[in-house]
Amino acid sequence: MGGCDYCRRDLCRVMTFAATVLTLYPEMFPGPLGISLAGRALEEGKWSLDTVQIRDFAIDKHRTVDDTPAGGGAGMVLRADVLAAAVDHALGAHPDTPVLAMTPRGKSLTQARVRQLASGPGVILLCGRFEGFDERIFAARAIEEVSIGDIVLSGGEPAALMLLDACIRLLPGVMGAPSSGAEESFENGLLEYPHYTRPAIWEGRTIPEVLRSGDHAKIAAWRESQSEIDTRLRRPDLWERHKGARVQSASGARHENEEPDQ
Ligand code: SAM
Repeated sequence: MGGCDYCRRDLCRVMTFAATVLTLYPEMFPGPLGISLAGRALEEGKWSLDTVQIRDFAIDKHRTVDDTPAGGGAGMVLRADVLAAAVDHALGAHPDTPVLAMTPRGKSLTQARVRQLASGPGVILLCGRFEGFDERIFAARAIEEVSIGDIVLSGGEPAALMLLDACIRLLPGVMGAPSSGAEESFENGLLEYPHYTRPAIWEGRTIPEVLRSGDHAKIAAWRESQSEIDTRLRRPDLWERHKGARVQSASGARHENEEPDQ
């Protein structure tokens, strides 16, 4: 076997980020991930994509994947037994890979979690439809429930595409300049500073003078303070967390310098 198509080394195959998406609509993939940065990275073998049709794991001749909600009510619920068979199949091909279900009831996805996932072997993503999943699947297969925001989508596929896009751009060699990932919003708990480009004056609006000064120290200081101001005004939740973390790390450093208790 000659290694991956990109670099012809077996090592690369070992390092490829393997994405598996369990879905009723495999034709939605790679979708937007087949173009631009992610599309190129897919062609180059920096990540791989498998889709699994959940319906293939139905156990009746009608290939039923859902049933009516226990207790009554509108809509249909995805069956735990069918989902479990699909998850087990994916884990068989990619053992030790985290399994995440897309659900508005899940923990909000963060850049920190995305970074962790991107540094791992890959992800197995379970996409819901209808009213969602039979709750028993989560504990039965140690599945992490993830939400992409306080909104309700009609299916988990767009959420899976978002999660994958966020991971793929962090994979080694996918983004042009490695620093463009590190300076981005949320990487240090804050929103990024605003950007400007030519023309210097547009519709009577100018680029902040400091950005045209050529003084790199002043530019860095302006960016840092702008990042703090914007986070405080736009995302008070992030700002409070950031302030809390700063206080904690300052008190941790103080404790480290203190004499140990006698
Ligand atoms: N009945 C569910 C509720 O109210 O929590 C919503 C089900 S939604 C119509 C169908 C599927 O879309 C979900 O099972 C999930 O896979 C996906 N989905 C919807 N909103 C989502 C979100 N904010 N984050 C992740 N997945 C979402």
